[in-house]
Parts: sequence; C-alpha cells; structure tokens
Amino acid sequence: MPVLPLTEQGHFLQLSRQQPDLFSKPIDFSLTNGTHVWISAPGIISFAPAQKSNKSIVLSSGVHGNETAPIELCDGMVKDILTGKLVIQQRVLFLFGNLAAMDIAERFVEENMNRLFSGAHSQPPGLVNDERKRALELEQAVSSFYSLRDDQRCHYDLHTAIRGSKNEKFAVYPFRHGRPWKTEQLQFLSACGVNTFLLSEAPTTTFSYFSSNQFDADAFTVELGKVMPFGQNDMARFDATDQTLRRLITSDSMEYHNFDPQQVEVFKIHQIINKSHDDFRLNFADDAPNFTDFPVGYLLAEETGRQYKTDTPGEAIVFPNANVAIGQRALLTVIPVEINHNWQ
Ligand SMILES: [Zn+2]
Repeated sequence: MPVLPLTEQGHFLQLSRQQPDLFSKPIDFSLTNGTHVWISAPGIISFAPAQKSNKSIVLSSGVHGNETAPIELCDGMVKDILTGKLVIQQRVLFLFGNLAAMDIAERFVEENMNRLFSGAHSQPPGLVNDERKRALELEQAVSSFYSLRDDQRCHYDLHTAIRGSKNEKFAVYPFRHGRPWKTEQLQFLSACGVNTFLLSEAPTTTFSYFSSNQFDADAFTVELGKVMPFGQNDMARFDATDQTLRRLITSDSMEYHNFDPQQVEVFKIHQIINKSHDDFRLNFADDAPNFTDFPVGYLLAEETGRQYKTDTPGEAIVFPNANVAIGQRALLTVIPVEINHNWQ
C-alpha cells in the first residue's frame, strides 16, 4: 500500500479496522526524521528510532475490545509518531489486540483473550476461533520484537476495569518465579497515576505474564479506570498516563523522585472464593469498588453450607461477580504486603 495516508494522518488503527487487507503483507518504511516503521499485521506496528536506543517497549491495548481509553491513548501516540509530532528515542511495539471486538464494542467476540496466552490458545480445542488465532499472532509479534535486541524490556498491557475501583488505577504484577519485584517499576507506574499494585503469586495465561515469564520483561496488566464507549472517556483522567508513556518512549532515561513506600499500596491475593451453589450471594453492594476493605470477621459471601468471612486486617475485595458459572471464581480477597527484601 502507499504509505502516504499513514504518514499524513497517522490513521493506522482506523485503517486496520476498516481496511485490514491493506496490511495483509508486512510493510516497512522510514519517516523523514529517520524513525523506522514496521507493520506486520492489522493493529500491529513497531517503530525504531534513527539513533541507538536502550529499551524495547511493548504497549498493548484493546485485548478487551470495549476498553476504549487505552486504545485511544495508544492510537494518539501512534498518530503522533507517524506524522512526525512525536520523535521516539526507544524501540516501541504497539499492539491493538482485539479489532473485531472493538467493532462490536464488546469485551470479546467468542472468548476472553486475556486467558489465551503462554500457549493456552493452542490447548484443546485448539485454534478454533479468531481470539485464539490473534493471541498466537500477538505472542509472535512480541517474540520477534524482543528477539531482535537484548536490551531492557518492558510491556504494559493497558486495560480498563468493568467496575470502578477505590483506587481508580491499579496494576497486576505477574508472578516472578522468585525474581525480585522492582520498586523502579512502581515509581514508573506511580508517575502514570497508578498507585495500587496486586502481586500475583502463580503463573497465569494473561498477556503480561507471557512477556514477563518468557522474555524477562518488566510487564504489568494496568487497569486505568472504568470501561466507557469510544469518545466518552474523560481523557483528562488519563493525562498523567499519557504524558508518562510518551516520556518513556521519547527519553533516553527516566528520572524519578525518591521512592516513598507510603505513596503506594501493595496487595497480594489472600482468598480465592469459588461459587459452588446457585444461591451464592455477595454480602455487599453490587457496585462496591475494587479494593474496598472490610473489618476482620465480616461476612463477605454465603451459599448453602458455606460462609466466607474476612480474617485479616486490611482484607479487601477484588473482581467480585456472583453471576459466574458454578465452579468459577466469584470473588478474590487481597491483603496488604510490606515492601521488603523481596524487592530491588
Ligand atoms: Zn481488560
């Protein structure tokens, strides 16, 4: 395809959604400022600066198609890079995850894509739907991007949550298999406006765990606020995130204020509560925000034969959903953790 519409208006995401055939074959070209552009598929675009860089940065959005704010943030950065307004100093790969789900304004078409990574896409029944095929394609894009260079790797998989959160923005830090958690990453995400962190203590099939585990990237699932339709986000609430991400890709190195543990709240998972009966019910308001805490001994949920209570000071709820199928997770509780010797 001619590259002119891309470099004049930067409509990469729009063209990916409306005319995906334009990108059925890989395209690469250079901008007048020397930035190299490589498009491997619809919604998959990477940039390399003209000069030497020291980081390989992956920014993914739209792994859930209706989580629009991060898609708009990334679309804005891609537009500004393509039109020469933003000059990058680091390699960056933008991934717009689920284009088909964006078109129908849904989280997914057939299957939650953020449970399909680390090979889950090919587990039985195999690559049977577009989400599974796309998860594989996204993994391959990350793999080729990182394998070209052995520099500092990071991956921020940007989402918005279904429900509000007491702390609007929070991030899930994937299981590190004993490698230390990094305060520098908390500083970076704090600068993005994220001050609540949930440490994951087991492998998962999320996108961020894939990059963390397979490529030792500093990777996070970042929840930036509440789901809203395209064009209805109050983008002022994302200013800090937008500016900090732009600084990350256009700077040689990042400077932070000294780390103050008082500025962040860090939690780990304490109870995983699965629904075992039809009469499972939550004993708090339907719209209680994530990270709302309850006093010790509070009855959080009950069902025939079972009661679920808090047992630890500061215990808080995350991702409650009483409407899941029997046997599925209906609620997580989390408890605060100290930043100690397991951190660097
Ligand atoms: Zn999401």
